[in-house]
Amino acid sequence: MSGQTAASLSSIEKSHLVSSKDYPYKPLSPNCHDIRILILLPGALQDDIRCLLKHVSLDDNPTFEALSYVWGNTKDTKPLIVDSCVVHVTVNLEAALRHLRKEIELLALWVDSLCIDQQNVEEKNVQVPMMGQIYTACSRVYIWLGVPSPSRHEPNSVETDDHSLKAPDNPFAMIYHFAENKHLYELPCFKYTWFRKRLRFSENRHFKKLWNNFSECVQSPWWSRFWCIQESLLPNVALAIFGTWRIPWDTIKLATTNRRQHLLACCSEAAMKLPARYSYMPDFVIDTAFATTDNLSNLDWILRAYMYKNCQDPRDKIYGILGLIDQRKYPELVPNYSLRVRDVFINAMRLIYAHSNDDLRFLTGYGFNSGQYQLPSGCATLLHA
Ligand SMILES: [Zn+2]
Repeated sequence: MSGQTAASLSSIEKSHLVSSKDYPYKPLSPNCHDIRILILLPGALQDDIRCLLKHVSLDDNPTFEALSYVWGNTKDTKPLIVDSCVVHVTVNLEAALRHLRKEIELLALWVDSLCIDQQNVEEKNVQVPMMGQIYTACSRVYIWLGVPSPSRHEPNSVETDDHSLKAPDNPFAMIYHFAENKHLYELPCFKYTWFRKRLRFSENRHFKKLWNNFSECVQSPWWSRFWCIQESLLPNVALAIFGTWRIPWDTIKLATTNRRQHLLACCSEAAMKLPARYSYMPDFVIDTAFATTDNLSNLDWILRAYMYKNCQDPRDKIYGILGLIDQRKYPELVPNYSLRVRDVFINAMRLIYAHSNDDLRFLTGYGFNSGQYQLPSGCATLLHA
C-alpha cells in the first residue's frame, strides 16, 4: 500500500495530496510465523476509517478474523488512516472495511493487501505460503461480495431479519428458499392450475425483484476470483456479506446442493418452464459453493478445475492454492515472486509431470488456461520445460 503521514483524511483530501510515499512497514521476523493484523478502530458507517497494524505470531494462537475480497481496480482508490499514515486502498476494500467496522468494539482482521507489504518480494515469498495457515487459524472469514447498486434499493426499502421470499429486498432470500429445502415451484413465479392440472410460469413484480437482487449478488466478481476457493474452504466459519446483508457460507453451500437435487428430481418440470433468463446460475458460483477439501489434493486437478478463475497477479494462479494442497507431496512448490509468470507456469507443469506416473492426460485440453496470459498451452509449456 502507499501512504503519507497526515493527521486526518479530510485535511488530506482537501489539500489534494496525490503523491505518496510507501507506508513504513516494520520488518516481520521470518522464522517466528509472524504476521500483521489490522486493528480496525470502531466508528459509525460514515466516519473516517482508522486502523493500526500490529505484529503477532501464529505460534501464539492469536484471535483474529480474515477478509476474502476482490482488490478491484488498483488505480481507483480511497484513503484511510493506518497508524499515523494516510494510505490509499481500492474502493472495494474501503467499502468492505467500512461495512465490517463495529460501532463500539475493535475488529482484528487479516487483509492481504494491507497486512503483507506488497512491494517487498522477499516478504511475499514468506507470507504467501502462510496464507493457508492464516485462513485456517482465523476465527471467521468475511466474504465480501460488494455493495448492491443504489438503483436496486427503493428509497423506502427497509432491511429486516426476514429472509423469506416475503422480503424481496433481501438479496439472499432466494438462497434461503433453497437452503430450507423448498421446491423451485414454490417460488412466487409459479402457479398451479388445478383445473388443467398444470404448473404455469407467471412473471410478476415480486419475483422480478427477488431475482434481480439475487442475481446482482451472484454476479459479484468475488465468485470468479481464484483465491476464493482457498479462502472459503479453509476457515471453520465463513460469512458472506453484500452491503449490509449477511448470510452464513454454509447456508449458501446447502442451498446449492438442495437446488441441484430439486432440479434433477421433483422440480425438473418447473425448471423447464423457467425462462433461461431466470435459470442462469454462473458455473463459478456453483463450483465455488460445491468445492470440498476432499477433491483438492491433486495439483493438476485443482488447477484445471478452477482454471477460469481470475487473479490480479497471474503467478497466483499457481500460488493461490498452496494452502489447499498437501505441501509434503509438493515440497518444491514454493512461491517466488521474482520469477517471470512464464517460469512459474513451466515449473508447475514440471511438477505435475513428475507426479503423473506417466499418465499424460494432464497434457490434454487447456491445461490451466495459460493461454489467458499469452503463454503456451499445457503441452507446449512442458516442451519449454
Ligand atoms: Zn423440488
